[in-house]
Amino acid sequence: MKLVYLDNAASTKISSGVLEKMMESYSENYGNPSSTHKLGQKARAAIETARSMIAGYIGVESKEIIFTSGGAEGNNLAIRGALNAYSSKGKHIITSKIEHSTVLKTCQQLENEGYEVTYIDVDENGVINLEQLKNSIRKDTVIVSIMYANNETGVKQPIEEIGQILENTDIIFHTDAVQAMCKEKIFPKDLKIGAMTVTAHKFYGPKGAGFVYLDKKFQVEKEIWGGSQERNRRAGTENLQGILGLGTAMEEAYENMDKIEAMEEEIHEYLERRLKNEIEDIKINGEKSPRLKTITNLCLKGCDIQTLLIALDLRGICVSGGSACMSGAHEDSHVLKEMGLNSEELKSSFRISIGKDTTIEEIDYFVENLKEIAKIERGI
Ligand SMILES: *Cc1c(COP(=O)(O)O)cnc(C)c1O
Repeated sequence: MKLVYLDNAASTKISSGVLEKMMESYSENYGNPSSTHKLGQKARAAIETARSMIAGYIGVESKEIIFTSGGAEGNNLAIRGALNAYSSKGKHIITSKIEHSTVLKTCQQLENEGYEVTYIDVDENGVINLEQLKNSIRKDTVIVSIMYANNETGVKQPIEEIGQILENTDIIFHTDAVQAMCKEKIFPKDLKIGAMTVTAHKFYGPKGAGFVYLDKKFQVEKEIWGGSQERNRRAGTENLQGILGLGTAMEEAYENMDKIEAMEEEIHEYLERRLKNEIEDIKINGEKSPRLKTITNLCLKGCDIQTLLIALDLRGICVSGGSACMSGAHEDSHVLKEMGLNSEELKSSFRISIGKDTTIEEIDYFVENLKEIAKIERGI
């Protein structure tokens, strides 16, 4: 059966080069990186090579990279770890209303634990209110966490401006860069980002591997206790193969970035042009904002998304009704709700996310099927 995968924002297929690198390590380089013998040293060397390569791509120092199990752990470590390290400064956090659940739920839990959180609004285009952010800063604000690009709409946030606002303060500027990493070059130092979360499985690496960049002028209290790995910021035997996979995935993305970006941009434009030209009564959520060229959040008025997703799935098309973390619950998207969509529009919106391997033929197959299904659902 035909399979068209248009859910790359949820996860990507591991690249063959990454898989090869990992397999080789599983069979030949399997020591514990903390062991002092030959195999231990070999594992340690491989990890440190990956670390310095990754640091090089984003223009930071090796010691500023903390390997984690991915985005959820990274966001928890950056936010909770910072709050614990700077508990004497205060208990105030600033974030936005459209963050990924790994930030939002963490903040909600922190409120239960006695922290205070200010949630910044977004406008109808999905961009946060910078004035409100500026006015929310307090003496006891420890961390500001605003995502680089949204996982449901692809809308990019004004990261440079936030960095400038926070530049001469002692507040940590954290960004969840999970969706944007490897889609464009990100230099956290230039953007005055103090902490940044990344996960490999969003750019053709393995699941369960990622890193936090943490500016060396900041500290985090570890969330996972035990050994003194990762400069005493994350205990546990390093996920050697995951880290090598992450490094290779970044290498592949950075070596081919211009080419992939151009291809994705072409496919993305083609997709949105066909949708707008050939289907009536549609809206692309966040269209007016700067967006990643891989995500289209489509509102198909008069269509119920749950039915639509099933119909597409039966035709071998994988898309998503928002973020993967929410899709099981059939909840309305908090992101689109904050952008002011009404309840009917919320029930009619879903996410298409292309990847480096998406072809024009696949987009054609998707659009043709979507047109048919929309006709049936709209009863025309
Ligand atoms: C996928 C995602 C995460 C979670 O990353 P995991 O590695 O799956 O835990 C966090 N933030 C954003 C924006 C994401 O898209």
